[in-house]
Amino acid sequence: IPLYEIKNLIHKYGEKVALKIDNLTISDRGVTALLGPNGAGKSTLLRLLALVEKPTQGQIYLRGEPVGPFCKAFRKVTLLPQQPYLLKRSVFENIAYGLKIRGKKKNLRQKVCEVLSWVGLDPDQFLHRPWYALSGGEAQRVALASRLVLQPEVLLLDEPTASVDAKSAQLIKEAVTKAVSLWGTSLIIATHDWAWINEIADRTLYLIKGHVLPSEMSNLIFGPW
Ligand code: ADP
Ligand code: ADP
Repeated sequence: IPLYEIKNLIHKYGEKVALKIDNLTISDRGVTALLGPNGAGKSTLLRLLALVEKPTQGQIYLRGEPVGPFCKAFRKVTLLPQQPYLLKRSVFENIAYGLKIRGKKKNLRQKVCEVLSWVGLDPDQFLHRPWYALSGGEAQRVALASRLVLQPEVLLLDEPTASVDAKSAQLIKEAVTKAVSLWGTSLIIATHDWAWINEIADRTLYLIKGHVLPSEMSNLIFGPW
C-alpha cells in the first residue's frame, strides 16, 4: 500500500492553477526527493500532503485513508515549511509545544534535549535561549527539532538546507538521516541540494509548471538512485 495516492487533483490560487495531478502514487518508506524549478509547485504539493491546505479539487489518500481534517492520518504527518515560524518563546517552549498540545507531557525535557543534541545544539547552551538570540541556521535547526520530537511517521521537508550555513546544513542532513534509520520515518524532501539527493533519495519526483513528470522520464533525466 502506497504512502500517498493522489487522484484528479487540481489546486488553484485564485484563477491560477498551481498544481494539476491526475494520478500519482508515492511509495512508502525511504526518501522521496521533490525536484523542479522555483514555482513548479513543490511547496504547494508538500502543503497538500501535510494536510495544511485542502486541494481545490480531487482526493489525496494517505496509506489508503482519504485525508481530511479529522482523519487519523493527520497525526502521523508533519511539515517543516521553507520559512518555519518560531514561537516568540524559548527554544524549549518551541520544541515542547507540539508534544504539549498532543497531551504528551511525559519526559518532556528529556525528549527536547535529545532532539536538540541531534541537531547539534548543546542543551546546556540552548535549552532556555530565547528565539531572538538564535542565528538563522540555529533557528532552522530548532524548527527541525520541533518536528523530530514528534517522531512523525511521515516527515515533509521544504528546502530545509536552502537558507542556512554549511555547518547547519550538514547537521540538518545528519539529523534527518538518523530519524529515517532509527524510526523508519518516510521522508519527502523538496531540495536543490544534488549531493544530498544522490546520497539519500530512493526515488525522485520532478515537477514542472504544476505537473509531475512521468517517473520513467524523470529517471531518464535524473537517474534512479
Ligand atoms: P515551488 O515550491 O516549486 O517553488 P510553489 O508551490 O511555491 O512552487 O508555487 C507554485 C505556484 O503557485 C507558483 O506560481 C506560485 O506563485 C503560486 N503560489 C504558491 N503559493 C501561493 C499563494 N499562497 N498564493 C498565490 N499563489 C501562490
Ligand atoms: P547571524 O547574524 O550570523 O545569523 P547572530 O549574530 O544572531 O547570527 O548570532 C551569532 C551567535 O551568537 C549565534 O550562535 C547565536 O546563538 C549567539 N547569540 C546571539 N544573541 C545571543 C544572546 N542574546 N545570548 C546568547 N547568545 C546569543
